Amino acid sequence: MSEKVLQKANWSSFVQALADARELWFPVKDGPIYKFAPYSGDVDAGLEEYAYSSVPPKAVVLPQTETMFLYQVGDKETSLPEEKKEKVVLGARPCDARAMDIVDRVFQWDEDDPYYLENRNKTAVIGLACNEPFVNCFCTSLDGSPGSTQGLDVLMVDLGDKYYLRSVTDKGSRILGDAESALEDASGEGSQAEEIIKEAEGKIKRSIDTEGIREKLEEGWEAPLWDEVSRACLGCGACTFLCPTCHCFDIQDEVEGFDGRRCRMWDSCMFGEYTLHTSGHNPRPSRKERTRNRISHKYRYYVEKFDKIACVGCGRCITSCPVNIDILDILSRVKEEL
Ligand code: SF4
Ligand code: SF4
Repeated sequence: MSEKVLQKANWSSFVQALADARELWFPVKDGPIYKFAPYSGDVDAGLEEYAYSSVPPKAVVLPQTETMFLYQVGDKETSLPEEKKEKVVLGARPCDARAMDIVDRVFQWDEDDPYYLENRNKTAVIGLACNEPFVNCFCTSLDGSPGSTQGLDVLMVDLGDKYYLRSVTDKGSRILGDAESALEDASGEGSQAEEIIKEAEGKIKRSIDTEGIREKLEEGWEAPLWDEVSRACLGCGACTFLCPTCHCFDIQDEVEGFDGRRCRMWDSCMFGEYTLHTSGHNPRPSRKERTRNRISHKYRYYVEKFDKIACVGCGRCITSCPVNIDILDILSRVKEEL
């Protein structure tokens, strides 16, 4: 483990050193939102105003659209896309790094998914602790923290005029080594960082006691609650597309002239066509079944398979829902009414 300090005056040199060694991704402002994008050298890479990215950094390791292979129509040969590059994600929030850990299990539990695993193994994550948690955060209800290091290679904490950086993995130590010229050795900043994280934990206002939710979800399968909580849903899919632990995808062929590519793209269980069978039968015909599935997948099915809740409490599904459907309200009702 190495502990370093980055003076904010040295920010540009730090960013450039990271970008010289690897493909660098960081949060970029796009209209009113932030999303992760590759550093091109001509954008402001500062993190001063950045709160959280509306599109989580899962998009770096599980791209919204990813080419699986290329082909020519009428030809049996296929070719693979370009080899993936070593990447570093700068400024991921700790909950989003914990979410990558959750998604990792899905892509290697029965078969190894070579596309995802290559991306993931070649990606290092520098996380930025949340000094000021956001209004819908509830990570502390799910074993998380504004300074959690799970899924991170380096933890970074904003100390005002400088950042404190601590490597969590060997990969993290190597990354700090790459940027050594911009960094100084830490001397006591670690305890200041711990205090900031503890203070931030105390600022989290929302919470849920998850004890017994899995069992209640099983028992309350047919409860009228599901009709009630899903009535306003528009089926837009924002809650799933923007969720850092959602990972469903669809596979399609795209052909232009004789050039074809097979690609996979994000899909959402909140869409009607997601479970539509060729026969016309749909086992989840209405938003009631889809909402029940979204909640059950995170708080029941994933728990039964991996002994862990597949939600990190980032609050994005609450913030992004256009009709204010709130997962914490649903979970509270599950606890109280089922
Ligand atoms: S379910 Fe909602 S709160 Fe939980 S990880 Fe997904 S977007 Fe965040
Ligand atoms: S974001 Fe809200 S309206 Fe859109 S699918 Fe999710 S619950 Fe329904």
